[in-house]
Amino acid sequence: MAALPRKQSRPDRILSELKKARKKDVNWKDGKVFSLVFYPGEEIYTLLQQAYQLFFSENGLNPSAFPSLRKFETDVVSMVGSLLHAPRSFAGSMTSGGTESILLAVYTAREWAREQRPKITRPEMVVAESAHPAFDKAAHYFGLKVHHIPVKDDFRADVPAMEAAINKNTILLVGSAPQYPQGVVDPIQELGQIALKHKILLHTDACVGGMMLPFVRKLGYHVPDFDFKVPGVTSLSVDIHKYGYAAKGASVVLYRNKALRRKQFFVYTGWTGGIYGSPGVLGTRAGGSIAAAWAVMQYLGEEGYLKINREVMQTVSWLQSEIHALPGIRILGEPHGTVMSIGPDYSGGEAADIYQLGDELAVRGWHLDKQQNPASLHLTVNYAHTASREAFLADLKAALLRTRKWNWHTLSTKMQIALAKGLAGILPASAFARLSRAQGKLGRDVPRRSAAMYGMMGALPREGDLDQLVLDFLDKLYTPEK
Ligand SMILES: *Cc1c(COP(=O)(O)O)cnc(C)c1O
Repeated sequence: MAALPRKQSRPDRILSELKKARKKDVNWKDGKVFSLVFYPGEEIYTLLQQAYQLFFSENGLNPSAFPSLRKFETDVVSMVGSLLHAPRSFAGSMTSGGTESILLAVYTAREWAREQRPKITRPEMVVAESAHPAFDKAAHYFGLKVHHIPVKDDFRADVPAMEAAINKNTILLVGSAPQYPQGVVDPIQELGQIALKHKILLHTDACVGGMMLPFVRKLGYHVPDFDFKVPGVTSLSVDIHKYGYAAKGASVVLYRNKALRRKQFFVYTGWTGGIYGSPGVLGTRAGGSIAAAWAVMQYLGEEGYLKINREVMQTVSWLQSEIHALPGIRILGEPHGTVMSIGPDYSGGEAADIYQLGDELAVRGWHLDKQQNPASLHLTVNYAHTASREAFLADLKAALLRTRKWNWHTLSTKMQIALAKGLAGILPASAFARLSRAQGKLGRDVPRRSAAMYGMMGALPREGDLDQLVLDFLDKLYTPEK
């Protein structure tokens, strides 16, 4: 366990330790990471760093002390609002990320319902199963019940099924533009009609799409309506730190009117430290991420974002047609922008084992998230990939050649043992013992792959077991290494 060093050190020593520590981190500048980082190229990257550094110490908690930050924040909110057809009456806030934006939208809906629908004591919301887990986090924090509705074959929200889940306690519907797993835009227009009919709120989660879809549409690609243009949409979340290419810690939550946003604000006037008010979840807020978001939006403007999105969409179309020509895999659904996923192709020949494919790509240095129901690999195509696409395709082909269909029962014993030891490395002994009992006898030997983890999790007898496993894993992850 680390203790605070007793003696002071030298800055150069600390910096070299920091640099050494990051050697094992994924390298995202070469375009081998498909989520987590959105790299806009060196010029913009440097601008972001400089803008962030200028406001490195400033605090967004008190805008009257920093009118600069107040201006940046209101500008960013207005710029996003104007991209998304916000009416004159709209209002919004900058937040630290998509999760905070969603927490606030759900909290605001609950507060709205407390006033408008006081008879509801157990508020509920209806989401498609593809909606981001931040909605479940919000429901968990703020005491709402969530109905997860299976999506249709095209991975878009099933509107009649969502309507059927509405009852007298429902206060909020959620649609995504696009949903993260397959990158398709939900039928927001139809959800809007349902929301109006039942007099409930509708949130469009445009965290990943809000700074991408407007430009993709302007370039001539088909994008269904999803923003304030759609009657019934009452709030929107948009991450600037994704396709806005800003520094991390920048997102926006928007409401159709000021009265709704007012429900989001928190005030406590009784504190001996003074009257306290704050718009969002955080108290102290990093000035750097607010300034950097403003800087990149000012720098790129519509022209810059169109240029980036033109190149990224060309890469997306190219990847789609190349992947279409490969055996055993396909793009799932018909994505509406630059987010998509690779799944198994069952139409003739042998479908590839997707998790194994992901592992083979990982061995080759590519980071793609594994998804479930259905199994797929996630591609958040961004500017970094316009340069790495050829290399990706070459490795995808190589990985595919090495990938064969398997499941836990058809694996060789040697492979089972190797994979199980991989799990033993990351799970505490008690959890591993439980898993081992479920899976029979296992030995020791460490693989770098995690297909087995998903394979084994899929084989667990009950859903609750999986929750415990993930909790154990998180405990272990945030326990210092010996
Ligand atoms: C990324 C994302 C979120 C959550 O945003 P964070 O910035 O990771 O908190 C929510 N919804 C969608 C669709 C996303 O892609």
